[in-house]
Amino acid sequence: MPHIDNDVKLDFKDVLLRPKRSTLKSRSEVDLTRSFSFRNSKQMYTGIPIIAANMDTVGTFEMAKVLCKFSLFTAVHKHYSLKQWEEFASQNPDCLEHLAASSGTGASDFKQLEQILETIPQAGNVVTGEMVEELILSGADIIKVGIGPGSVCTTRKKTGVGYPQLSAVMECADAAHGLKGHIISDGGCSCPGDVAKAFGAGADFVMLGGMLAGHSESGGELIERDGKQYKLFYGMSSDTAMKKYAGGIAEYRASEGKTVEVPFKGDVEHTIRDILGGIRSTCTYVGAAKLKELSRRTTFIRVTQQVNLSFSGVS
Ligand code: 5GP
Repeated sequence: MPHIDNDVKLDFKDVLLRPKRSTLKSRSEVDLTRSFSFRNSKQMYTGIPIIAANMDTVGTFEMAKVLCKFSLFTAVHKHYSLKQWEEFASQNPDCLEHLAASSGTGASDFKQLEQILETIPQAGNVVTGEMVEELILSGADIIKVGIGPGSVCTTRKKTGVGYPQLSAVMECADAAHGLKGHIISDGGCSCPGDVAKAFGAGADFVMLGGMLAGHSESGGELIERDGKQYKLFYGMSSDTAMKKYAGGIAEYRASEGKTVEVPFKGDVEHTIRDILGGIRSTCTYVGAAKLKELSRRTTFIRVTQQVNLSFSGVS
């Protein structure tokens, strides 16, 4: 007989962070930089652990140029050629420590990744998986956590499979940290408060798609309609992406992503400042002088309403 797990599993929207006594006087005192030393590869990483997702509308070289100025990380999408990588690397050598290359699982994908890594060996390595302990014990350093929370993901609708992201992060972080591994919370953040909650739940890194979409540096077509500007944003397994890169959807699978038009938001620099400012404030509210201390200072309160919706259509 199928089993029902009766434990309540929570999403970002189901909780708030409880304010705690704090001696911090200003959010400028908060240090968001973290240094990691990875269990298996023994590599080190220092930076603000927020990652632009490896979607072709988000993980662009233009995005990487701005994000690296803030010490944020970009998982570059897999559709750049070796020549484009070489050009970017030679013009932006300082950015390379904040970049990862992406790969599919086909033989030609690996060949291309190998060539990129030979040319630019600083690129990192991420995997997706729910079996955190097993993956870490088999050699992975960082596990990407998230099944179905993404803003343009339709996996839950198409397959019925998923796991509320806040609980997934708390449970996976616990498993990973016990083995000195690390995790990325991937998907489901819709505002700076969600990013803070993901870090509070124990995420070492937080990956963002939708929050970084719709900017000048994002990929995707700019659309003008009725005097308003929008940018196309789509999931990497949406019809749009599959038509663009794979010549259509394979018969045996359904698309698991949607295509949306995001109101154009201008330069991403403003959004980055907004996100970092928000997390700094979170840290001051809970008394964490460093991002590293945030999860230790976190108590989540379950709520039935997290924001006042009176003027929710008005920015
Ligand atoms: P967001 O920050 O937009 O909520 O989530 C971004 C994440 O959604 C990405 O890092 C990736 O893991 C996931 N994602 C991107 N495209 C697709 C897609 O087409 N289908 C699914 N299932 N997930 C996607």
